Amino acid sequence: MSWDEKELKRLEKKAKGVRFRCKRTCGIECCTMLSVLVSPFSSISFIRWYFRFSLSLKQVFIFGVEPVLGQNSLLPMLWKKEGFPCIFMVIDGQPKCRIWEDAPISCITYPAGLYKKPTGKIKVVLSPEVRCPEDAFLEGESLEKLAKRAEEKFQKQTEFTELYLERITPILPKYLEQQKETVKKLALEKNKQVKEDEISIIAQKSVALELLAIAINMHADGKLTPKNLVDEYEKHINRGL
Ligand code: SF4
Ligand code: SF4
Repeated sequence: MSWDEKELKRLEKKAKGVRFRCKRTCGIECCTMLSVLVSPFSSISFIRWYFRFSLSLKQVFIFGVEPVLGQNSLLPMLWKKEGFPCIFMVIDGQPKCRIWEDAPISCITYPAGLYKKPTGKIKVVLSPEVRCPEDAFLEGESLEKLAKRAEEKFQKQTEFTELYLERITPILPKYLEQQKETVKKLALEKNKQVKEDEISIIAQKSVALELLAIAINMHADGKLTPKNLVDEYEKHINRGL
């Protein structure tokens, strides 16, 4: 058993029997201090609004949120960094989430989380970083029930991740290399000195944005399913290779 599995088991045990009711008044703690990773099946609203903000502000990158490719998986995601107020948090008396109906999985389930065991069983864990006040755990619903709200989304996200790992992760590095060459060429044309690691970061961000934009368009056309999205990614990448 790897350390991660051991840790998950420990957090699963900690979640057992815990009851929770959100105080709704301390969003600075959760929506600012915590990091959130958002994939197309975690919250398409988050991604869609991010693109809208960047269009209306006429800038590609929004404060505190970055497009990223997963470290080994190369999954395209938006990363709300820890310590930055979420762009969707509205402070009007109490902090509120502007996209709560379709908030990211980790936000809906917090302070619980979900993970899938190798056997396929979905388990509920207590977040390793609980920032809620102690009295939020005095009453309310069980963490298991709370986390169940996100189970459908979680199933789709898992299906998408599995297909992506199988079909896109192996072909993306070559595509990324091509994008790096394009970035280098553009920098040369504009007479700009850009370091190798910066080129790599710029290429990764632009590929992440490109793939996330495809998900938005498919969602607008009512065609966003895990399989459709991976099919579309495969076509898009192969066209570019
Ligand atoms: S998406 Fe909503 S719940 Fe999640 S961090 Fe942002 S404001 Fe908070
Ligand atoms: S810190 Fe916990 S109790 Fe407070 S608003 Fe966030 S989720 Fe709710």
